[in-house]
Amino acid sequence: MSELNFTPAVGDLPFTPQQRHLLALAHELGKTTFAPRAPQWDETASFPFANYVDLKDAGLLKLCVPASHGGLGADYPTYMMLAAEVGRFCGATALTWNMHICSTMWTGVLADGIEMTPEQRAEHMSRRELHFSRIVNDGAIYAQPFSEGTAAAAGRAPFGTAARKEERNGVSGWLINGKKIWASLSGAANYYGILCTEDVDGKTPDARDTLYISVPATSEGLSISGDWNPLGMRGTVSRNLTFKDVWVSDAEQLMPRGIYFKGAQTWPAMFFTLAPTYLGVANAAYDFTVSYLRGEVPGEPPVKRRQYPTKQIAVAQMRIQLENMKSIFWRAISEAKPNPSKDEKMRLYAAHYSVMEGANDIARLALRTCGGQSMMKHLPLERLYRDSRCGALMLPWTAELVMDRMGRETLYEAGERDE
Ligand SMILES: Cc1cc2nc3c(=O)[nH]c(=O)nc-3n(C[C@H](O)[C@H](O)[C@H](O)COP(=O)(O)OP(=O)(O)OC[C@H]3O[C@@H](n4cnc5c(N)ncnc54)[C@H](O)[C@@H]3O)c2cc1C
Repeated sequence: MSELNFTPAVGDLPFTPQQRHLLALAHELGKTTFAPRAPQWDETASFPFANYVDLKDAGLLKLCVPASHGGLGADYPTYMMLAAEVGRFCGATALTWNMHICSTMWTGVLADGIEMTPEQRAEHMSRRELHFSRIVNDGAIYAQPFSEGTAAAAGRAPFGTAARKEERNGVSGWLINGKKIWASLSGAANYYGILCTEDVDGKTPDARDTLYISVPATSEGLSISGDWNPLGMRGTVSRNLTFKDVWVSDAEQLMPRGIYFKGAQTWPAMFFTLAPTYLGVANAAYDFTVSYLRGEVPGEPPVKRRQYPTKQIAVAQMRIQLENMKSIFWRAISEAKPNPSKDEKMRLYAAHYSVMEGANDIARLALRTCGGQSMMKHLPLERLYRDSRCGALMLPWTAELVMDRMGRETLYEAGERDE
């Protein structure tokens, strides 16, 4: 297998042949197609539909569908490397692709590592076939709208969206009512994989009763509302979804009852999947800075700015931070697994924080160093700067909540309390 002719956003690592092949594919697609299109999604705050046609044609919508179901069977680290590579060229595409991929990864390789009874396992194996076949055969796109503007997406309260058992025409199913905010891919996804709480008569809503259900975009009672005009990641089109007596059959369940809650406890790395997009954005800001200071940005006057010691120092500072981010990112994806040790979990939090805050640090330094002309709208740096700010705001692991978890989980062992 030949060597890569570029350094991937995750760094130069001992890749498997499959990883090398996929990284080369993502890099080529990103560089030649996604990067030139990125300004248009940003300017118009519109969804990158054209990129999704390319992702489908390249087989990347089925990246994490198991090979036994017609997918590429990529594992967690492989997806994380590719997501960083895509994020390097279009943040909004990488971030929305993450929502889609997670719908397949959580039901695929992650679910394989969650403890289930034989009945639950059998139910899951038969149900997920439907979802995988929609993606493999029809190129279906799945979204992941969890947020509700309450403590639920932070993992601190049950979801307010409720699903009640209801049979229709002899078919067992769920009647869904509620509202989601921040639904990336709204209007673009074919299915919305929502988290909701089972509504049982006389029972107080409990996070243990979280259900993970896909709602077809064509469902009666599903509506999309709200403006979309944010600071960054504008191509994600993350509007509101309302579910008014939406009925879906049991076949739409993405996981058996109770398994999502278990999964979130078992597989903390499932929440780290938002980070690679921002590692990609950080790489892009760094790459731009180097070529700008060398006077090599296409279409710009070939003015060199590299001779100033302050610029050299800033570039060194950016590189040091980027290398640190890549190292901890690599370590975290290499050791991601069910039930990680306390050290592994702390490292995972640290990696998430380092990438989410570090991306914005690097973009900030890039703008300061390249200077006034570099912030013009015809150049990508001001978009990268805006996009880079968004990662630390994303639940359940906002930068604040990661600090909160790290401090608490360091000082308190499970079950420990002060009087
Ligand atoms: C570009 C982008 C795309 C997104 N796409 C999706 C998507 O597809 N699906 C989806 O589900 N969500 C998505 N989100 C939403 C995201 O995950 C968060 O839900 C959202 O950013 C939270 O905003 P908020 O104002 O509701 O936060 P709030 O809940 O008001 O929280 C504000 C801040 O307070 C802190 N905080 C919150 N709860 C607690 C607590 N219990 N204890 C201590 N501190 C707390 C956190 O640091 C948080 O950042 C997206 C967000 C962005 C920026």
